[in-house]
Amino acid sequence: MATPFTGEGERRKGSVELRALAARRLRPVADRGAPGKVNRPLLATLGELGLLSRVVPLTGPVRAQDLCLLRESLAYACTEAETALALQGLGAHPVVAHGTRAQRARWLPEVAAGRAVAAFALSEPGAGSDAAALELRAEPTGAGGAARAGGAAASGWRLHGEKRWISNAPQADVYTVFARTGPGSRAAGVTAFLVPADRPGLGGEPLEMLGPHPVGTLTFDGVPVGPGDVVGEVGRGFRLAMATLDLFRPSVGAFAVGMARSALDASVAHAEERRAFGGPLKDLQAVSHLLAEMATRTEAAALLVQAAAAAYDAGEPGVAARSAMAKLFATETAQYVVDSAVQIHGARALAHGHLLEHLYREVRAPRIYEGASEVQRTIIAKELFRAAGAGASP
Ligand SMILES: Cc1cc2nc3c(=O)[nH]c(=O)nc-3n(C[C@H](O)[C@H](O)[C@H](O)COP(=O)(O)OP(=O)(O)OC[C@H]3O[C@@H](n4cnc5c(N)ncnc54)[C@H](O)[C@@H]3O)c2cc1C
Repeated sequence: MATPFTGEGERRKGSVELRALAARRLRPVADRGAPGKVNRPLLATLGELGLLSRVVPLTGPVRAQDLCLLRESLAYACTEAETALALQGLGAHPVVAHGTRAQRARWLPEVAAGRAVAAFALSEPGAGSDAAALELRAEPTGAGGAARAGGAAASGWRLHGEKRWISNAPQADVYTVFARTGPGSRAAGVTAFLVPADRPGLGGEPLEMLGPHPVGTLTFDGVPVGPGDVVGEVGRGFRLAMATLDLFRPSVGAFAVGMARSALDASVAHAEERRAFGGPLKDLQAVSHLLAEMATRTEAAALLVQAAAAAYDAGEPGVAARSAMAKLFATETAQYVVDSAVQIHGARALAHGHLLEHLYREVRAPRIYEGASEVQRTIIAKELFRAAGAGASP
């Protein structure tokens, strides 16, 4: 197929190499892991291969296009490796972008080597899509602490409350935690803290989910944090969370595209091999047209993801809408493609251990996390009206 972007040939070559590497080095380690458990040998292998340091760089920013290339390619061959890599990037990104020298020195080399597990703790039982409703309290400590509820001058805080649906929790080694230092309601007054897992008062439970990656709760019973644990500035944590999601949203789309490509290729092979009514399935027009539709939508999703990532890297305006479009379209497309692939494969796709049974479980969550599809539509619509007001298209 034609290569519409500059450097596209190079990108596709990189993707083929990454897929092969994932199949050879990562797939066997992933297969030895257990569902719902952090796979530390898999993280160590991702570290040894130098893949984690591309999403957790010790210096310089993360490039969205590279993050998307990695996520799409790994997802094609090994979703477990893809997700392990993405979660290290998500959990550590606030420190990569805004960490102090001490925070960076303590954690980034460990996370990039796959020796320490990172997590991003924003969601709460009462604050999912409406993340600005978060209630985890950071109560000031020290003399006159309560009077300094503004937080800026506090000598420290104690965290009280709960986080829920946190990937890698409670097995991670370090959490970026968003808490309310106040004053101000909603997005104002939220601060990001870097909380090591061994802080007193920090607990949590694993949650059993449809997909295989680890997710759990975190409970904070007076967990002590100090000024040295603040990531970025006191009271500006919500912006930091949203900036992290701006980078990761297109890459969730890339994860979806990788799964869609994998399901599509399996379906093409199956339609060539499987015989019914005296010939291969591909001779049935209903099947070949379905494959054509799956391929077309997957290609469109891939192009939207790439355009959003390129716009992010170039610092172009309108990135929020582009990222939202990429995530929305790619995750909805992957759901359609994986479901269609199951249909083409028939019963065998639903047998435990089949690639499509695995993808069918994996493909559902990305339409919910990092902003459900409905939330992405709201972002896109807001940008449309904002741009219309400013006399430009997004
Ligand atoms: C596998 C998995 C991993 C996750 N990992 C993390 C993590 O690492 N860190 C973290 O902080 N969180 C994580 N989450 C949580 C995730 O971000 C939330 O689930 C998500 O933000 C949605 O919140 P909710 O589940 O509470 O749904 P709700 O906010 O209750 O929304 C439910 C539904 O209501 C509808 N809806 C909500 N708002 C709107 C709106 N404005 N307009 C129209 N419809 C709307 C949508 O259909 C939505 O799906 C994870 C979730 C999953 C499933």
